[in-house]
Amino acid sequence: MPKILIVEDEAPLAETIAYNLREEGYKVCSAADGHGALAMLRSEKPDLVLLDVMLPGIDGLEVCRRMRKESDIPVLMLTAKSREIDKVVGLEVGADDYITKPFGMLELIARIRAALRRSNRETRTSEALTANGIELDLARHSVSVDGVEVELRPKEFALLHLLMANRGRVLERSVLLDRVWGEDEYIDPGTVDVHIRRLREKVEADPSSPLRVLTVRGLGYKFAE
Ligand code: CA
Repeated sequence: MPKILIVEDEAPLAETIAYNLREEGYKVCSAADGHGALAMLRSEKPDLVLLDVMLPGIDGLEVCRRMRKESDIPVLMLTAKSREIDKVVGLEVGADDYITKPFGMLELIARIRAALRRSNRETRTSEALTANGIELDLARHSVSVDGVEVELRPKEFALLHLLMANRGRVLERSVLLDRVWGEDEYIDPGTVDVHIRRLREKVEADPSSPLRVLTVRGLGYKFAE
């Protein structure tokens, strides 16, 4: 069974979560602060992290950023605030999902299962992603559309990879910017739209009415399910 790392400084909540996960058959380890969490990530090699945002010392967002530098383990953020901004920030730092406190154990377990399923699927297909007539081969760095190979520039390839790996999920412009261009350089957010347009010219039969790389008005983009 998968091992879950619980990072939560409220001991009663951490214990309740641990108890319920053990009842479901999961292995559990836990940490009460960020430094402990990073140490546990290395020593325990968990399969998923439940990460509270409000932690003493380094907060959960920073912990998530640091975890992302060394691992692509699924991270489910636990947040006390339901304000949209927290959710966005949670995903911007590379978290896979978030759940707002207070939450029920059934919901938590359902989210854990979904995140583990997604990560298994991504691992199995990490060499090649295939969807909607597009095959993206990571090892060969090649893309074919309906069996015909197309030439993508590196950023177009990275965008397509990110969208396909998160198929059906909306990725906001800021998230795409952060993951494809990195947080260090300043890039005009409109750059994303320009690259999406060029990408569509290569992977859509009719770039003006795309069926694969879809616009989600006011939010960003997603790859069609
Ligand atoms: Ca807390």
